[in-house]
Amino acid sequence: MHPIIPITAAPSHKPEPLPTPVETLAQIDRAHARYPKCKLCGQRVRRLDQYGLCSKVSQPHEDYRATHCRGGRPHRWEPSGYCQDCGIREPLDPDDELLPTEGA
Ligand SMILES: [Zn+2]
Ligand SMILES: [Zn+2]
Repeated sequence: MHPIIPITAAPSHKPEPLPTPVETLAQIDRAHARYPKCKLCGQRVRRLDQYGLCSKVSQPHEDYRATHCRGGRPHRWEPSGYCQDCGIREPLDPDDELLPTEGA
């Protein structure tokens, strides 16, 4: 049993001073500690994108987005070349162009 303790009188306390506009690094760090981490580079960001990444557009991040569905799972390519999950077309490897084409 958890008896409900009625709140009688609110304790009197002074209003907190407004935060200074310039945050210290420690304050920023503390705020960032609550942020989710980019699963690729570990950078903490306020919001991850659909792939669970930060907003960087470096090659590894772009590669990851190209090889994963929006939930962050790797694409599952069907033999037809489309992802079973999100339906996008498998990007063609530039090397494929060097292969002899059938029935040409
Ligand atoms: Zn990242
Ligand atoms: Zn997919």
